[in-house]
Amino acid sequence: MVRTLIRNATIISVDPDVGDLRRGDILIDGSKIAAIAPSIEADDAEIIEAANRIAIPGFIDTHRHTWESLLRATGPDWSLAQYFTGVRVVMGGLYTPEDNYVANLLGALDALDGGITTLYDWSHNNNSPEHADASVQGLKDAGMRGVFGYGNANAEWFPPNTIATNYDDIHRVRKQHFPSDDGLVTMAVASRGPQFTTLDITEKDFLTARDLGIRITIHVGDGLWGLNRPLVQLDSRGLLKDDTTYVHCNTIGDDEFKLIGATGGTGSIAPEVEMQMGHGLPPALRFLSAGVRPSLSIDVVTTVPSDMFNAMRALLAGTRLMVHRRALEERTTVDPLPLTSRDVLEFATLQGAKACGLDHKTGSLTPGKQADIVLINTDSMNLIPMNNPVGAVVEFANVGNVEAIFVAGKARKRNGKLLDLDFPAFRRRVDAHRDALFARAGVPTDGSWVVTPYEEEPKSEF
Ligand SMILES: [Zn+2]
Repeated sequence: MVRTLIRNATIISVDPDVGDLRRGDILIDGSKIAAIAPSIEADDAEIIEAANRIAIPGFIDTHRHTWESLLRATGPDWSLAQYFTGVRVVMGGLYTPEDNYVANLLGALDALDGGITTLYDWSHNNNSPEHADASVQGLKDAGMRGVFGYGNANAEWFPPNTIATNYDDIHRVRKQHFPSDDGLVTMAVASRGPQFTTLDITEKDFLTARDLGIRITIHVGDGLWGLNRPLVQLDSRGLLKDDTTYVHCNTIGDDEFKLIGATGGTGSIAPEVEMQMGHGLPPALRFLSAGVRPSLSIDVVTTVPSDMFNAMRALLAGTRLMVHRRALEERTTVDPLPLTSRDVLEFATLQGAKACGLDHKTGSLTPGKQADIVLINTDSMNLIPMNNPVGAVVEFANVGNVEAIFVAGKARKRNGKLLDLDFPAFRRRVDAHRDALFARAGVPTDGSWVVTPYEEEPKSEF
């Protein structure tokens, strides 16, 4: 068994029983964390000298449409309705299976490079079994921990939509690619839900996932689409359980948050996307009022950057903006500020693991858990002097400070560079797929693509 000793790091474990160590050692034995202590002797281990480094658990992104990575930065000025046109009406149906593969590999490596060691791939452009196979392979080939959330084909996403989910393919993918739940990448069902399809189809999605013994994620409460009481609808069929993660939740009612809390559900907030595109206010405080500690997600790199540092900062600023605004209107001040940097670091790590059903394996630096570890180099102009490690990670660090990453004990990034990657060759492959895709769509790549907002048909009974 290969043993690695990370020595003299500042350790933020996100495990209350382990706590923080201003200076300590982490012993990795094979895929697991064997010990964390102020000083560890391990003569046979490879030593990684980590003075002036902060060790944190790898970040966990609980919801990303990774296949959209080829569309990076197309929509920083798009509303949600423009995004729907650009991504769904124009691009989704034009993807080849190999586009899905390259995009998923790119998106996963991009996440990993920024310290995200577990990625929930909310995969909703599986236009054929070959597309699904390619999506799975792209995620697996990145060499990180992941959850493949099987979503629908592009054509099944135009609301209101009565095309049934391809249940045969969900069963096939489970059997062919995920025969056990012990791999680095596991499977879940990413259901359209009652905002985008019928309640009958949604019920069948949920029952299929439970029949296969895998978790569920679902978008609820994003913008005007979320006002049709999705949680109440799900509850009317008895579908709310603790195996489900509810993404966004910006425009659902307080009673709907209570339903999530009472049934053991988990949440995923994509703070910057929600504030930029019109989903609504990031609902961290509403989740907490319902007894749910949410996780964080990136969602779409058409619009926002891939990294968790940005998501943590967006959530802190967005949440505090709301309470400060109310206080100013009431001619008062806020003290103490709601939500701490330690809270959002926990959302970005341990709560993400819980939302993926993986907290027994990852999400904190805990002896016995998998060694998913990020080392942040604080020997950097933006991080000296080091006065507050947790505050520095959340408010001051960036991807450029992510020096080393371990996934299941295996080094995936060292000295600031991803390992096992020929970047120039990969870049050529990415560019070739981007060029061909955009040429098929007849869309420019210089930022001049103008998109008209998608106009939805009436929801009727949905
Ligand atoms: Zn989403």
